[in-house]
Amino acid sequence: MTETLTLASDETVEMFQRYVIPNYGRYPVNLVRGEGVHIWDSEGNRYLDLFPGWGCNLLGHCPPPVVEAIQKQAAKLIHVPNSWHIDIQGRWAKMLSDRSFGGQAFFCNSGAEANEAAIKLARLHSPEDRYKIITFEGGFHGRTLGATAATAQPKYHEGLGPLMAGFQYAPFGDLEAVQQLIDEHTCAILVEPIQGEGGVRIPPEGFLAGLRSLADKHDLLLMFDEVQTGCGRTGEWFAYQRFGVTPDVMTLAKAICGGVAGGAMLTTPEIAPSLRPGMHAATFGGNPIAAAAGIATLEMIENEGLLEKAQEISRGFQTRLESLAERLPIIREVRVAGLMIGVELAVDGAPVVAACLERKLLINCTQGNVIRFLPAMTMTLEQVEEGCDVVAEVLEGLAT
Ligand SMILES: *Cc1c(COP(=O)(O)O)cnc(C)c1O
Repeated sequence: MTETLTLASDETVEMFQRYVIPNYGRYPVNLVRGEGVHIWDSEGNRYLDLFPGWGCNLLGHCPPPVVEAIQKQAAKLIHVPNSWHIDIQGRWAKMLSDRSFGGQAFFCNSGAEANEAAIKLARLHSPEDRYKIITFEGGFHGRTLGATAATAQPKYHEGLGPLMAGFQYAPFGDLEAVQQLIDEHTCAILVEPIQGEGGVRIPPEGFLAGLRSLADKHDLLLMFDEVQTGCGRTGEWFAYQRFGVTPDVMTLAKAICGGVAGGAMLTTPEIAPSLRPGMHAATFGGNPIAAAAGIATLEMIENEGLLEKAQEISRGFQTRLESLAERLPIIREVRVAGLMIGVELAVDGAPVVAACLERKLLINCTQGNVIRFLPAMTMTLEQVEEGCDVVAEVLEGLAT
């Protein structure tokens, strides 16, 4: 990294080198405190964060209602097992159900776990010889072995074989290919309504509706991975509502608890009993802290009108980035779906991320050349401009 960056202390870096498994590429910055759209490092530098918590902090850092809910709940009851009724978990499930398709919830702690539950449900719900699940190239479903097998990106499979059997991959957007893959062993289709890690890929018109028809025709479960798109990220509660296509199963995590670890799988009351007692569990799933944070998250979005606000912020980004794209040929495409924002470049994105970091702006790059922002719903339009100014300056520097 460059010298203008304030490095994490040698002591911290050394501790990581000695005691933490090096499976992540880490920036040499030690983040210590967050508030709203800002985060501070151990040297006191303040950053504007357009990628708070890798999509988990949709309400910004330390949203006050979530902080308060966690504090209160922690003093009352932190954890009890799922062998008991826990009223706060029930209330959380009802709130998710009321805002989606009237389903029932299984709670877990992460996106990969939510997808594992969906994979098990799909197999349990269908006759034993029907086990194949169709997923999509460029998709991302998590890092457990089942979710890795569902993730149709060869780079994530290297060295891990043999992978769990039963997944078949189709190009994202290609209904014809899906149709061809369906046979008497197929039980489900698992798809992100908008691919996130795959580069903010918005499906072609009619694709999700086409999947719905195929699923209905062949008696398959249509399962939407809304781990990234859900809980208000696209300016609706869930991305499926934007496309008017209702899935049978939906998985959630990332932003679901306003930054606290949590996940859920929702399905209809007709399908839900297939996940029968004894077949699946998550020890910490739906624990009181996560439930309190999850409820506070939904309430904050509603009380502060954040779904509408997200759309306003989204338009701010879109206008600004599209006008930038007109001037700068190194921008190939701007893709915006609410607060999922991808800028595909004709060049490698890593130097852009590094240059923004030097200017105290946090962004992300995925798929090598797609700059990605997953900003907070609580941003002001001035902060949108401030962030875009920095990105513009960096990209202009590259273009010349
Ligand atoms: C992040 C992500 C996952 C994995 O979530 P984890 O909480 O890291 O397990 C799964 N699916 C999608 C679409 C994601 O964006």
